Amino acid sequence: SRFSLILRGANMLVEMLHEPAEIFTRMRSFNPEVVLLDVSMPGCTGPELAQIIRLNDDWLRVPIVYLSGATDVGMQVEALRLGGDQFLTKPFNPVLLAAVVKTKIERFRETQRSTRIDGLTGLLNHTAAKSQLKTMANALTNTASPAKSLTVAMIDIDHFKAINDTYGHPVGDQVIRRLAWLLKGRLRTSDMIGRYSGEEFLLALPDVSPDKAREVIDRIREDFASLPHAHPSGALFATFSAGVASFPDFDTGENLTEAADYALLEAKRRGRNRVVEATPTG
Ligand code: GH3
Ligand code: MG
Ligand code: MG
Repeated sequence: SRFSLILRGANMLVEMLHEPAEIFTRMRSFNPEVVLLDVSMPGCTGPELAQIIRLNDDWLRVPIVYLSGATDVGMQVEALRLGGDQFLTKPFNPVLLAAVVKTKIERFRETQRSTRIDGLTGLLNHTAAKSQLKTMANALTNTASPAKSLTVAMIDIDHFKAINDTYGHPVGDQVIRRLAWLLKGRLRTSDMIGRYSGEEFLLALPDVSPDKAREVIDRIREDFASLPHAHPSGALFATFSAGVASFPDFDTGENLTEAADYALLEAKRRGRNRVVEATPTG
C-alpha cells in the first residue's frame, strides 16, 4: 500500500498484516517497534485490535498509531482511549507520516532501554530476557522459514553467599559484573544474555548446534573459574554452574527455561562448577 511504500522509502522495515486473527503470531515473529492500525478493517476495528494488543504484557508499551479517513473527533478520542497513541488522517502527508512513525520508534527505544536493561550489568533484566526468549523460541515454529536451533542456558554463581559474606557486597557485585562482561565478550550479538536474578543469568543461543552451544558455555565456565577477582586484601576465584536445554527436546521459552533450571540444580547437586545438559523425559 501507499503508506508501506512511504515507510520503506524512509528506510524502515515494514510488515503488512491483513488478517487481524494473525496479529499475535505475526507480532511475536516480527517484534514491531510501532504498530499502525487502520481504523476500519474487515471483521475488527482498529481500536478493538488495539485493546487486544494491550491485553498482552509483552505489548503494553508498543506505540499504536491509527490511520483513518474519518475526521469524527468523538470517534478519534474513543479510539485513543482504547489504547492508541496518535491519530493520522487521510490524506497522509508522506513526510509527516514518516516523521511520526520514526519519532514513535525512537521514544519506544528509549523507554525500552530504561525498562529493559539491568543497571548493574547492562544486560537484559528478568522481564526483558524472558520476553526476548519467547520471541526467539517462537521463531522456531511460527515463521515462514523457521529457525533451526536454540540452546538455553541457566547460569548461577557457586557459593555466592559466601563471597558476599567473606568479602562484602561490593566485591560480590564486581564478580557479577565481571561475569556479565565475560559473557558479553564471548557470545555473539545474536545471542540473548539476561540477568535473571541476583547471581543468575539466562542465555539463549540461536543458530548453533546444542553440542557447540554447550562447548561454548563450558569454555566460558573454565575461563571464569580462572579469572582472579580483586578484593582489598588480595584476589578471589569464583565458579559457576550451568544447566542447558535445547530445541527440539524442549520447544517453548518456558519449557526451555524450566529444563535448563532443572539441569542447573543437577549441576549443583553433582558438585558445582560444571555444565549439565537437560534430557527430555518420557
Ligand atoms: P549455590 O552454589 O547453591 O548457588 O549457593 P549460593 O550461595 O550462590 O546461593 P544462594 O542463591 O543462596 O545465594 C545467592 C546470594 O546472592 C544471596 C544474595 O545475598 C546474593 N545476591 C543477590 N543479588 C545480589 C547482588 O546484586 N549483589 C550481590 N553482591 N549479591 C547478591
Ligand atoms: Mg542463585
Ligand atoms: Mg548461586
